[in-house]
Amino acid sequence: MSEPTAERRAKGPYVVIECPEKIPCNPCVEACPNKAISIPGSMIELPQIDYEKCTGCLLCIPRCPGLAIFVIDETPQEYSIVYIPYEFLPRPKKGDIVSGLDREGKALCKVEIIKVIDSPKFDHW
Ligand code: SF4
Ligand code: SF4
Repeated sequence: MSEPTAERRAKGPYVVIECPEKIPCNPCVEACPNKAISIPGSMIELPQIDYEKCTGCLLCIPRCPGLAIFVIDETPQEYSIVYIPYEFLPRPKKGDIVSGLDREGKALCKVEIIKVIDSPKFDHW
């Protein structure tokens, strides 16, 4: 999967998709109003991102059934903001300090919850 350039990362929030398995799935493509996500050829192929079209709007995050979509904002000077899908209870609260984990579940760093956003409800899942 492609990665955004350093120049693009400095411009503002951008999408990250960690969807490495070939599965018949494509709601992410329909979710993006800017057509920044595409799955060329068969639906089973992996999603591709056009980082110049992505505005980091977050709309694709709740549409992925695999919780595979994130948005990262590296523009703050002292930290980065990572928007993630989260389906568990209890809901985190603004101001909570939690552990940031790597892909293997090992603690990487302390993370402050700065915002909790409810996603819209979709009637076609
Ligand atoms: S964050 Fe917004 S603009 Fe970027 S890929 Fe997702 S829906 Fe499209
Ligand atoms: S919606 Fe999610 S799981 Fe499905 S292809 Fe897109 S990124 Fe992968």
